[in-house]
Amino acid sequence: MRWLPGKKGERKLTMAVLVVVMLGMLTAAAAFRRETSQPAPVEAEAPGAVLPLSGWRILVDAGHGGYDGGARARDSGVWEKEINLAVARQVEKALVNRGAEVFMTRDGDEDLCSDDRPAHQTMKRQDMENRVAKAVEAKVDMVLSIHMNEYRDRGQSGPQVFYRQGCDSGRLLAGAMQEALITHLEPKKHRAALAGDYFILRLDVPSVLIECGFISNAAEEKLLLSPAYQEKLGHAIAEGVESYAEVSQGMR
Ligand SMILES: [Zn+2]
Repeated sequence: MRWLPGKKGERKLTMAVLVVVMLGMLTAAAAFRRETSQPAPVEAEAPGAVLPLSGWRILVDAGHGGYDGGARARDSGVWEKEINLAVARQVEKALVNRGAEVFMTRDGDEDLCSDDRPAHQTMKRQDMENRVAKAVEAKVDMVLSIHMNEYRDRGQSGPQVFYRQGCDSGRLLAGAMQEALITHLEPKKHRAALAGDYFILRLDVPSVLIECGFISNAAEEKLLLSPAYQEKLGHAIAEGVESYAEVSQGMR
């Protein structure tokens, strides 16, 4: 910046004015950032008000549970099943706030196995079949399966969404979900949605398996264990559902 000519007093005054203007600009920028990064307020539930997801029936599946702990967080030793449930509850809350009717495959530390399991069926298989059966029974429009990722290379991080190969609505939902997770969580690593062969994705309704992040990555494990980040995840996932609902209008 070119120094403004003038007497000492005038210079001081000019400096003061400049400082005030710059402070004002900084405050405005901060306020703008606060405003844009905050979740949209839930509309007041006035009678007859239509929320963005009203009419949607959604199954939220907290992966693993009971005998099946899933992966184990590398530093804390916390089982994946616990984090999945905590995040699934946040997803449920965020979806209900947007007007959706939400069903949970489990709401405690339990698997979906029963004692009358046929001899040829593994516990894992029965557990998975019962999760899919819940979606069919509840006649849901969508399935969201919540998981945490792990990998031996501790450098891997970032959320990753999977859909079933050949399911167009699932691919569309996965794309919207992956984008929402990147926008709202701002992870270091930006991944793209991928096709994956998972039992829970075999329904005809749009279904995605969301690996929320890597519990084998030290920094991401800390985030995934924090209730504030879990709430943020719930919000981001609901935003993904909402943007899918917008683009798929007319497809239903
Ligand atoms: Zn898992």
